[in-house]
Amino acid sequence: MIIENYTLASSTSHATPYYVIRGELPGPVFMVVSGIHGNETASIRAAQNIVNRLRQGEQYIHRGTLIIVPLMNQKAYRKRIRGVPDLNRTFPRTRNAAAKHPVSVALLQLVRRYRPTWYLDLHEANGLSQRNPKRLGQTIIIKPGSRGTTTARRIINGINGSITNSAHHFNIRFRERPGSSRAAVSRILGAKAFTVETCWSLDRELRIRYQIDIVNRFLRSAGLTW
Ligand SMILES: [Zn+2]
Repeated sequence: MIIENYTLASSTSHATPYYVIRGELPGPVFMVVSGIHGNETASIRAAQNIVNRLRQGEQYIHRGTLIIVPLMNQKAYRKRIRGVPDLNRTFPRTRNAAAKHPVSVALLQLVRRYRPTWYLDLHEANGLSQRNPKRLGQTIIIKPGSRGTTTARRIINGINGSITNSAHHFNIRFRERPGSSRAAVSRILGAKAFTVETCWSLDRELRIRYQIDIVNRFLRSAGLTW
């Protein structure tokens, strides 16, 4: 396994690190993005923890290539705000349109270069989906008709089996959000793209654990780890 670190949007004031981790065997490209919203700190910490574990040899990528951008919106994170503008509305809405922010431009360049089959965007949301179907806390979101539906359902069943408090159980949600990174990546590349949302009102350590657990389940499912 080889770990390389680079800087996204390196020539701008939005510069942020990203990591390319290559397994020894050929396999799919899997991209994980976090911190598009600067106040969703458990998802950011989860992505950073995964990078740290890989660097310390506590976790291993056997096959394929994993690309992680742990903190997309550095400026918003410093202020612990969602971000102005909302980065998740700056991605192109059609195949040939351009992104509207230096970081989203740079991320799309990365996406076009590596062409991931899998794309995970880590977020946090209000409320528990198990209690209120309109809430997005504790969900995996995909576009209606996505090829990733079976995988998302399997991962939700798996993680729910490990969560004793059923109020914390995850649910699948079908949404298409124009301008989001997930919508752009699925439209441009046809990638299997997912948004992971933990619930903000839960204990932070627990949210971090849920986020890491879900990413690891996806990595196993995609064959990068075993
Ligand atoms: Zn978010």
